[in-house]
Amino acid sequence: MDYATLASEYQEQFNVAPERVFFAPGRINLIGEYTDFNGGHVFPAAISMGTYAAYSARDDREFRVYSANVPDAGVLTFSLDNLAFDKADNWANYLKGMLFELAKQDLTIDHGFDLYVHGNLPDASGLSSSASMEMLMGEILHAGYDMKLDEVEMVKVGQQVENDYFGLNTGIMDQFAIGMGKKDQAILLDTNTMDYEYAPLDLGDNVVVIMNTKKRRELTDSKYNERRAQCEEALRRLQTKLDIKTLGDLNEDEFDQNAYLINNETLIKRARHAVFENQRTLKAFAALQKGDMDSFGHLVNASHVSLHYDFAVTGKELDTLVETAWEQPGVLGARMTGAGFGGCAIAIVNKNNVKDFEAKVGKVYEDTIGYPAEFYVAEIADGPSELTK
Ligand code: ADP
Ligand code: MG
Repeated sequence: MDYATLASEYQEQFNVAPERVFFAPGRINLIGEYTDFNGGHVFPAAISMGTYAAYSARDDREFRVYSANVPDAGVLTFSLDNLAFDKADNWANYLKGMLFELAKQDLTIDHGFDLYVHGNLPDASGLSSSASMEMLMGEILHAGYDMKLDEVEMVKVGQQVENDYFGLNTGIMDQFAIGMGKKDQAILLDTNTMDYEYAPLDLGDNVVVIMNTKKRRELTDSKYNERRAQCEEALRRLQTKLDIKTLGDLNEDEFDQNAYLINNETLIKRARHAVFENQRTLKAFAALQKGDMDSFGHLVNASHVSLHYDFAVTGKELDTLVETAWEQPGVLGARMTGAGFGGCAIAIVNKNNVKDFEAKVGKVYEDTIGYPAEFYVAEIADGPSELTK
């Protein structure tokens, strides 16, 4: 999609041309899953699929917003004078939530806007369309309202929207990966300290293929919260003898020597994933820096195994895609990405094998699961931006 497409879609809806057009990407996570609320590292990257919006400022305090992705909701309206969460406001709660959380910081936003949104991320599929929407709003607010927040502060506002406004217990990864995205770079983020480092995502002859299970997401939020509680309980038990703040403070040996303190099979498995995944993420970053693609691929595979057996967040759909991917020629590694249970997986595939890969994995998936998967080649992209005419 480009400026002209968004401008004409906006014009069709609102009968005038928009003033400006903005874009915010989605994200993949290369490795480091379920480490972000355990004080560990994550290694995500922004992708060229994302959310577009055509925008015009209004003189009054009203907002009129429409999304081509949720046409049934029609044009939603809200006012600066009532930003409380309201289920009836559907997806517009993401925009309201950003304004609501920013208002807590005493930032004066004095007028509304008309907005036409159109995204090309699959909805609720683990590529973080919600954070894309939040960071899109952040970009609009930066550009249209002279906000004095820097990017990292805006990222944190996005997380508050999920945590406080929607009541979801999510970590900082999604908003950070999107808000701080850089073309052809992945971001190693220490979620404990918020230190981060860019790493060129030079995969040689390989590309990242995103594999979408197309499974409707159901229990993800409740399971997510359950996993979080399990990790917190395991940490609490470790802290009876160890002076640690997070599971990310431990290395593999320290964990093995002290796991007896947890004294519960399920909790040990959950915590082991968090500890080992964090270490794998650091190793994967180092391997990529050295151009050691084989090691990188093995770590990616090990991440999926751990998410399957220790963390138990994969499911038949994701396992079918990933395990079939492992068997294909020219594949360096594959794993689920995002919260799991459904959603997307990634595979690192030699460019020359992509067509055969998609055909073969697609067939096995449809034969096994009963409906087709979707495949996209990921381009690693910049964070939010304004499009030029
Ligand atoms: P994920 O972030 O994994 O894609 P979420 O459930 O967190 O899944 O967020 C999906 C929600 O975000 C959608 O149900 C919708 O409310 C909102 N959303 C995302 N993209 C759009 C869009 N283009 N138009 C309208 N709403 C969107
Ligand atoms: Mg989300």
